[in-house]
Amino acid sequence: MNRFELARATSVAAALDLAAEKPGSVFKAGGIDLLDHLKEHLIEPPRLVDLKTIPELRGIGFQPDGSLAIGPLATLAQLAAHPDVRRTHAALARACGEAASPQIRNVATIGGNLLQRPRCWYYRLASYRCLKKGGDTCFAIGGENRYHTLFADGSCNAPHPSNAAMGLTALGASLVLQGGRGTRTVPADRFFTIPDNDPRRENAREPDEILIGISVPAAPGVRSTYASVKEKAAFDWPLVSTAVALRVEGGRVREARIVLGAVAPVPLRSVAAEQALLGSDFDDATIEAVATAAVASAQPLAQNGYKVELLKTLLRRTLRSLAGGDA
Ligand SMILES: Cc1cc2nc3c(=O)[nH]c(=O)nc-3n(C[C@H](O)[C@H](O)[C@H](O)COP(=O)(O)OP(=O)(O)OC[C@H]3O[C@@H](n4cnc5c(N)ncnc54)[C@H](O)[C@@H]3O)c2cc1C
Repeated sequence: MNRFELARATSVAAALDLAAEKPGSVFKAGGIDLLDHLKEHLIEPPRLVDLKTIPELRGIGFQPDGSLAIGPLATLAQLAAHPDVRRTHAALARACGEAASPQIRNVATIGGNLLQRPRCWYYRLASYRCLKKGGDTCFAIGGENRYHTLFADGSCNAPHPSNAAMGLTALGASLVLQGGRGTRTVPADRFFTIPDNDPRRENAREPDEILIGISVPAAPGVRSTYASVKEKAAFDWPLVSTAVALRVEGGRVREARIVLGAVAPVPLRSVAAEQALLGSDFDDATIEAVATAAVASAQPLAQNGYKVELLKTLLRRTLRSLAGGDA
C-alpha cells in the first residue's frame, strides 16, 4: 500500500474540492473494495476523500409519488432489512440481502457496491496487464475462466460483480451524479457500460464525479424478486443471478423486466426472455421457453458451460416463485 492522506469531507461540495486539489484522489465509502485495490497496488492515490462523514449522502426514504430515494451511503444491511423496501421493491432488498456476508453488508454501502470493480483474478493480480489495466489481452479467454461471462463482446470477459445493480436495473432506477460540471441523472440500464466502449471502466461515472443519490420509481402492482446461485452459500459472489420485475394483471404478465447477472460485463436485460414471457399465465411451456430464450445467444468459454444450465434452472425457479405471487 502506498502512503496516502485521508481527508474527511462534510459536504459533497467539499469532497469535490478535496479531490480536485490533489489529482488522482479517490473517494472512499465503506472502503471494502477500495482497500483491496490499495493492498494489491492496483491504485496508488495520493489522497482518499472519505464520503462517510457527509450527512446528505445518507438515508432511505419514500417520496410523495411512492418512488424510493436512497443515499449512496445506505448500507446493504439497511436496505435488506428495511420493511417498506422489502414490501415495495423486493428485488432490491433481496439483492442487497444476498450479497457477501452479514459483517460485510453492515459496512458496504450501496454506492460502493454499484461502483466496485470486477472480481476477475487476472484484473485483481497486479502482474497481469489485462485490458482493464490498459493492456491488450483478456487472459481469461485462454486461461482460467470458470467464473467468467457467457455473454461478452469478445474483449473483457469479467462479469459485473454488483448485486445491487441487478435489483436497480430490474426496477428501472436512475443514478444521480455530481461533479465539477454539475449534476446529471443516468438510468441504471445506461449507467453500466460494456467493455467494447472502453474495457478500463464498467460505468458512466467520470473520475471526478460523486454518486449522490439513487431514485427507484414507485412500483405499485409490480412483483419483483432477486435470486442467485453461489458456490459458498454463506458468502460469495454469485455464479449466476437474476432480478425480475413483472406487472401481472388478470393472471397474465403485462410487463416484464428480466435481468441476468454474473454472466455479462453488465447487468444484462434479456429482451428475448421478456418477450417470451409477455401475455403468458406462467404455464410450464412458457417458463421453459423463457429459460431457453435467455441463454440462446450464450457463448460459454472453455470452463464455464455449466453456467448455462444453472441460469436456466434459476430462471425457472424464480418465475415459478413469482407466479405464486409470493414475492
Ligand atoms: C468476501 C466478499 C464477498 C462479497 N460478495 C459480494 C456479493 O455477493 N455481491 C456483491 O454485490 N458484492 C459482494 N462483495 C463486494 C462488496 O459488497 C463491495 O466491496 C462493497 O459493497 C463495496 O462498498 P464500499 O462501501 O465498501 O465501497 P468502497 O470500497 O469504499 O468503494 C468502492 C468503489 O466505489 C467508489 N465509490 C464509493 N462510493 C462512491 C460514491 N458515492 N461516489 C463516487 N465513488 C464512490 C470508490 O472510490 C471505489 O472505487 C463481496 C466482498 C467480499 C469481501
